[in-house]
Order: sequence, then structure tokens, then C-alpha cells
Amino acid sequence: MSVRAALPAVVGAPGGRASSAPLLGGDTEPTLFELSRPGRRAWQLPTTGVPALAIEDLVPAPYRRDAPPPLAEVSERDLVAHFTRLSHRQFSVDLGAYPLGSCTMKYNPKVCDAVAALPGLAAVHPAAPARLVQGWLALLVELEETLCAVTGMAAATLQPAAGAAGELTGLLMMRAWHQAQGRQRRTVVIPDSAHGTNPASVTLGGYETVTVPTDPSGGVDLAALRRVLDEDVAGIMLTNPNTLGLFERDIEAVAGAVHDVGGLLYYDGANLNAIMGVVRPGDMGFDIVHLNLHKTFATPHGGGGPGAGPLAVTAGLAPFLPGPRPVRTAGSPGNAPGSADSPGKAGDPGSVRYGWEQPERSIGRVHSWHGNALVLARALTYTLVHGADGLRQVAQLAVLNANWLRARLAGLFDVPFDRPCMHECVVSAAGLRREHGLRASDVAKALLDEGFHAPTVAFPLIVDDALMFEPTETESVQTLEALAQACERIVAEAGTPGGPERIGHAPVRTPVRRVDEARAARHLIPVADGVSETSSPPTG
Ligand SMILES: *Cc1c(COP(=O)(O)O)cnc(C)c1O
Repeated sequence: MSVRAALPAVVGAPGGRASSAPLLGGDTEPTLFELSRPGRRAWQLPTTGVPALAIEDLVPAPYRRDAPPPLAEVSERDLVAHFTRLSHRQFSVDLGAYPLGSCTMKYNPKVCDAVAALPGLAAVHPAAPARLVQGWLALLVELEETLCAVTGMAAATLQPAAGAAGELTGLLMMRAWHQAQGRQRRTVVIPDSAHGTNPASVTLGGYETVTVPTDPSGGVDLAALRRVLDEDVAGIMLTNPNTLGLFERDIEAVAGAVHDVGGLLYYDGANLNAIMGVVRPGDMGFDIVHLNLHKTFATPHGGGGPGAGPLAVTAGLAPFLPGPRPVRTAGSPGNAPGSADSPGKAGDPGSVRYGWEQPERSIGRVHSWHGNALVLARALTYTLVHGADGLRQVAQLAVLNANWLRARLAGLFDVPFDRPCMHECVVSAAGLRREHGLRASDVAKALLDEGFHAPTVAFPLIVDDALMFEPTETESVQTLEALAQACERIVAEAGTPGGPERIGHAPVRTPVRRVDEARAARHLIPVADGVSETSSPPTG
């Protein structure tokens, strides 16, 4: 679908006709296109006296647009007011508790932002020669080493831009590793509780997914796993704790069985706040681990901003890592990034300690330059501020909070796997559905009216009407108590006359009420033919 197809029909309409929606106040904030009036613009600069050149003299005809782009024309004042109003009509980790399970939405310390904003980090060009960016290179190397220490791995790449990108990188490395051993494998095993990105990455990586069921205690069904393991299996992808928030107790047996058929173990470490500083994936027998710096290591996420999904591997897989990699060179002249084999100009050899290196059998780049660098700066800051003990405490508090909440909610909802959980807990709203016809999503909507972000609903798929809470380590016991009391009010209201009806219409206190979840995808608003030709571009 093109972007234009999604725009309202009033875009650049002749004569600047806008919709009749109120421009201010009320429940609806107009779009910029509805605020648009021909000729308005959001900047003001004095004329320079430099004569204007016609676009025809500057850009050859084949490269010119046939028509101006259909952009909104608004004044700076209206533009700022529009976005400021919108910024007040949302919910964020800085505003309140955000117990969204599986995707760790936690408060991120502002000191990390302050460091990432330092001009010495933020204003550096990624093509600067190594000898001029020794500090940046030191930061990258130190972060790699820190993540290796936390995961129990030998080497890492910081290039992947997100968890899913780390997964694909890991699978491509798995493939390259098998090929280097002269064998071709076809399948990757995934438990049925896995995060949706896992099977998607397997497909993108050119493998077929084989699913293994969860056993009654919430772990991988070991007997079922043994049945599917054969010489076709390239490896297994696991999250531990899994998406039920449960620790895989049989992990050593799983690792042994997979290694016995020559497969590799991939650890989905998106939510490392469950275990960091306490147990290392490397010690559990994993070969490849990705981490989500934008969940565990202080980069906010959820708004589509940049993330980072570094990948750490065992020594045997290190030669296949994406490159070039930042390395300690101790005294040798630095190389320009991306051209590890053609040395840049030698600086003072004694002062250069970091450079770039292409791993021997690298699968190649998976991101331009060096990944989302400022996310990496935030992550290193986070680890330095906490120290090893602090990181362990993060995990301990995350697990304590989730178990506190699990115990507190146990009387309100069904708890399908009633054993100590890790950083998140899964309850089921199936009881409310049977008695009052309400779904997990109704509880989630009602929580919005209570001032909380919704927990994850309907995931993991293997739990009937799941509600998945991840309180994270950053919330106080008072906040958790308030969340539990909000749940109590909702469940109590469900049992009152008219209660289910009211809950079914929640939320009523949010700027946007209950939305039709399918409409935006099913009913596209067409843009009238030729409309874009009539809008005039900003001049000057
Ligand atoms: C969030 C998450 C992912 C995907 O990470 P992205 O950065 O969104 O690509 C993968 N696995 C698990 C368990 C996750 O929670």
C-alpha cells in the first residue's frame, strides 16, 4: 500500500479544501493535512540576496518530479501546537507503569541519554578514520566485551539493528558454519511458545521451522524434541526463560541432545533482565545469543525508534561474524571503517590502539557503518553505571516484582503454570469469559482507564485468553500494589449488574476510545486521482 493511499482524501485538494472537523479541542486532533492551507510554511528566513535558480537549470528533466509532492502546508505555530497536543495524548514509560509482557517496556535512566547526546559521540561522522575516533572504537570494543561477559560468549557483533535482525544474523551464521563443515541442513526447531520473530527469522534465513510442544510444566517437551532431532536439524532457537516467563529446567539435556546431532543452540536473549548476572547462556550450552539493548540496556523502544540487537557467539563461530569489527590493535595504525584490508593513513602509531578487522569467514555486513551507534553508547553507560552487582540486582528485582505480582493476581485470574516465574507472569482471563463474557483484551482496555498501560494480551498463544504482565525491575512495590488493586476493581466490576457491559466499552478516559482493530487495514481511504498535482510546493 502506498503512503498516499492511506492519506485522507483532502490532501492538497483544490483550493485547500479541508475537512469540516473542528481544528482544535474535542476528541479528534486534525491531521496536518486537514490543517493545511496553501502557501503557509513552517519556517522563516531572510532573503540572502543570492539570485534564485530555476529548478529546470539545476536538475535534468528525467530526475524531476512531474508534480510537487502532496505535502501539508502549515505555519510553524500550528505545526508545533499540533505535535505538542499529540505528545500529550499518549502513554509512555516516562509517564507510568507499562507492564507489557515479552517486550520489556521499562524506565530508562536519563544519564544514558545524557551520554548519548555528548557531541564527542553524537556529532562524529561514521566515516571518520579510526585514528580520529579512538574513543568511539574503545567504547564499541568495551561494550562487546561486556556483552560477552554477561552472556558467557567469546565474541560479538554490534551491527544488528534489532532483535529480529540479530536472529537473522545468527541464522545466517549458523548456515555458514554448517556449510563450512561441508554439510547442508534444512530445519530449525522452535518451541510452540516462541516469540513470533523466531519462526519468521528461520524462514528468512532459508530454513524450515519444526515446532516442538510445551510440556505440562511449561518447558520444552523433551521426548518430543528427541523425536524431531535428526541430521537435517541445523539448530534450535530457545528463549530461556521462555515466553511463559518460566525457566527451562531441562536446558542442559536440551543442549546435549541438539549438539549430539551436530546442531547449534540459538538463545533469544531479548529479555536478558530475567537472568543477567545470575546465569549465562554460554554456561547453559548455547552457541549464539542475541540481546535487545532496546529492552534491557536503557534504550526506550516501542515508538519505532532505533534499537540494537547485538549477537554474541562462541569462539568456533567468531570467524563468521559480520564485519568489519572494532578491535584492539595496540599500536598499529588504524584502518578506515569498511576497508579493513586497505590501511588508512598512519597516525601516531603509538597512540592508535583500536582499528577495524574483517573476520576471516565473515558473512558480510548486516548494517551500514557500525549499527545504531548511540544505542550502543547508552548500553555501555547503563552497564557502567550499574556495575556487575547492579546488573545482577536488576535481574533479581525483575524476577521478584513479577513473582510478587503473580502471587497478588493469583486470586483474581487463573494461573495456568503455577510455579515461580522469572521476569514476567502469565495469567488467564478465561474464567471472566466463562462467567461474564469478557476477554483478556477487555481487562487490558479497562486498565487503560485506570492509568496503566495494558499488559500483553492473547500471547503466548498456548494460554487461553492470556494476560502477560512484565512489571520490570523499575517499578516500586507501591506501583505494583496500585496495579493489582486496579485489576481487583475491574474483576469486581465484572460481577456487578451492567459491569461487563461497561468494561466492554472501556476505555472511556483515553483520547482514543475503543478502536476497530481491523478497519485501518481493511478500509483504505483512496486519494482522488490527480489530487497531488494541485498542491503547490513551498516556494523560495
Ligand atoms: C522483542 C522480542 C524479539 C524481537 O525483537 P525486535 O527488536 O522487536 O526485533 C524477539 N524475541 C523476544 C523474546 C522478544 O521479546
